[in-house]
Amino acid sequence: MSNLVEGKNIVIMGVASERSIAWGVTTSLHKAGANLIFTYRQDRSYGKLTKLLEKHKIEAKWIVECDVASDESITNAFATIKDKVGVIHGVVHSVAFANRDELKGEYANTSREGFLLAHEISAFSLVAVTKAAKELMTEGGSIVTQTYLGAEKVIQNYNIMGVAKASLEASVRYLAEDMGKYDIRVNAVSAGPIRTLSAKGVSGFNEKQGLIEEKAPLRRNVDQDQVGDATLFFMSELSRGVTGEVLHVDSGYHIIG
Ligand code: NDP
Repeated sequence: MSNLVEGKNIVIMGVASERSIAWGVTTSLHKAGANLIFTYRQDRSYGKLTKLLEKHKIEAKWIVECDVASDESITNAFATIKDKVGVIHGVVHSVAFANRDELKGEYANTSREGFLLAHEISAFSLVAVTKAAKELMTEGGSIVTQTYLGAEKVIQNYNIMGVAKASLEASVRYLAEDMGKYDIRVNAVSAGPIRTLSAKGVSGFNEKQGLIEEKAPLRRNVDQDQVGDATLFFMSELSRGVTGEVLHVDSGYHIIG
């Protein structure tokens, strides 16, 4: 898999722990020779990220704070990246948030505030990040976000996050059209359930993984590395003809009725 993204500057947003999907992406892109730039929100995540990088002997090209709830923070983060790194070739958007108490029970109970928050952090952030990243993608590029089947079908307890992911996937298509003329591709990976800090916030997580083992064609759950390799495909020239796509990395579960 070497040379696929050799020497490309790729921004990874959303490493909060060793279990993060963004960490699986990090190891895949690193093995394939990419230069990695990271953004984080909480100081705790910064601490985890720097320890992980040290442990795995991965040298970050730059690390910068970026809270996607703030336009100013996004602008400052990409201005810093432009200043320190110059041109970028890819962005991996692996961030989402919803109120934990709205990830159980009836979707009908979603609050106005919770609805807006989930959409702001989990969907609008891709729009804002794409706009900021485009300025640095002067040689073309690839933007990949992480989504989930709850965007397409009703998955118990996923509730507001499913609706926000539907908005995210529609945004992938509209952004793909906007960015295509700049040779920037926009795609999503739709992963099966993976035990991460965020996944713990959704009620009934174990049952979801059990269903995959029972019903998915491959009869096993996916892991961060598999999502990382699919994201690598989108970052590399191998996917140069693909944009506006949602690729399921879920052991085939989405095809089962
Ligand atoms: P993690 O909890 O490891 O990662 C979530 C990340 O989102 C954290 O790094 C967190 O940063 C970041 N984040 C939250 N709010 C903000 C914000 N305002 N600004 C910037 N960053 C923010 O969980 P996952 O790896 O599971 O989640 C990554 C993506 O994958 C999400 O979009 C998720 O919906 C998606 N996904 C997850 C699946 C799963 O089963 N785990 C399945 C399919 C998709 P911090 O902790 O510093 O706040």
